[in-house]
Amino acid sequence: MNLPRIDINTLKITHNVKQLKKIYASKGINIIGVTKVIGGNPLIASILVKNGIKILADSRIINIKKMKEAGILAQYLLLRTPSLSQVKEVIDNVDISLNSELVVLKKISKYALKKHITHKVILMIELGDLREGVMPSEVDHTVREILKLKGLCLIGIGANLACLNGINPSLDKMNELSSIAIHIERKFKILLHIISGGNSANYQWFKSSKNIGRINNLRIGESIFLGRETLSRNPISGLFTDIFTLITEVIESKLKPSMPYGEIYQNVGGIIPAIRDRGFIKRAILNIGLQDTIISGIIPKQDIIIIGASSDHIIVDNTKTDLKVGDTVEFTLNYEALLRTINSPYITKNLIH
Ligand SMILES: *Cc1c(COP(=O)(O)O)cnc(C)c1O
Repeated sequence: MNLPRIDINTLKITHNVKQLKKIYASKGINIIGVTKVIGGNPLIASILVKNGIKILADSRIINIKKMKEAGILAQYLLLRTPSLSQVKEVIDNVDISLNSELVVLKKISKYALKKHITHKVILMIELGDLREGVMPSEVDHTVREILKLKGLCLIGIGANLACLNGINPSLDKMNELSSIAIHIERKFKILLHIISGGNSANYQWFKSSKNIGRINNLRIGESIFLGRETLSRNPISGLFTDIFTLITEVIESKLKPSMPYGEIYQNVGGIIPAIRDRGFIKRAILNIGLQDTIISGIIPKQDIIIIGASSDHIIVDNTKTDLKVGDTVEFTLNYEALLRTINSPYITKNLIH
C-alpha cells in the first residue's frame, strides 16, 4: 500500500464512541460527534452514526457536504460561527449552527424564510476563553432580537472553553451557563432544548461534579479519536489512545556529518539554523514533510530523533536504530498533527476493520 499512509483502526473508534456515549449518558449528557479532526471522512462518520450519534458537527461546510453526499443520515451542525458571506450555504447544507452575531442571524433568517425552512440556532455565550460568544451582559438583548426573527428557532445555548486560552470549563463556569439558561427560559418563557457546555475539555468537570445543572450536551471530537481529555491531555480510562498510526518510508540512509558545511544562510523556514557539531551521525530521510504533517506533533515509535524537515522531507538521526532504504517508520500523532495529516491529499488513508 502507498506510503506515507495513516492507519485508522475502526474497531477502536467504535469502542471509544460507545464508551463515551455511556459515560456521558450516565448523567444525562448527550454527545454531538465532532468530525473536523477526521476531515469529515464519511466512512469514519458512519461509525459514529451507527453507534448512536444523532448529530454530527464540523467547522467546514465542505466536510458536511461530503458526509451528506455519502448518505450519512444525521443532523448536521456547523461548529464555526457562520461567515456573513456564507449564509446561503449554511441554510442549504446545515440543520443547526452555533451563532454569536445578530447581523449574521438576520441574514440567516432572510434566507430561511425564502426557502420556507426553519434553521436551528444555538447561541454561544462568552465565558472567558475569549473565542466565540456574546458577553453575558448582552444575552438578554440578543435573545430578544433573535426571537423576533422568523425562520429561526433558538433551540439552545452553548459555550466553548479551553480552545484559544485553555480556560477550564470549571464547575463555576458550567453553573454560570446553567443560570443563564434558566434566566432565559424564565424571562422569555421559552424552552431551551440544548445546553451545550463545551468539548473534550469538559471531562474533568463532568467526572468530578455530582450536579451538572442544566448542561445536557457536549460536542466531542478529540476524546473519541485520541481517547483523551484535553485540559491536561490525560488518557480517559477504558479508551483507546492509539487509533491512528502514521507510517512513512525511508528514502535515503547515510552516514553524514551532523554539521552542515559551507556558508550558512536562511533555511526553508526563514531561520539560520544553529547546529551543534556531534561528528558523523546516521541520517535518514523520510518521504513526508511540512505539507503533510506538523513535525512537533508526531512522535516516532522507534528510537530515532527528528533533526529537521522541509516541505517534503523529514530528516532523522537514526544512530540508535539502523534504518535502511525502504524501511518504514511509524509515528503516533497529537490533535494538530492528526488534523493536518488527515487533511493532506498526499497521505493515503487506510481504514482497518
Ligand atoms: C472543535 C470544536 C469542538 C470539539 O472539540 P474537541 O476538543 O475535539 O472535543 C467543540 N466545539 C467547537 C465550537 C469546536 O470548534
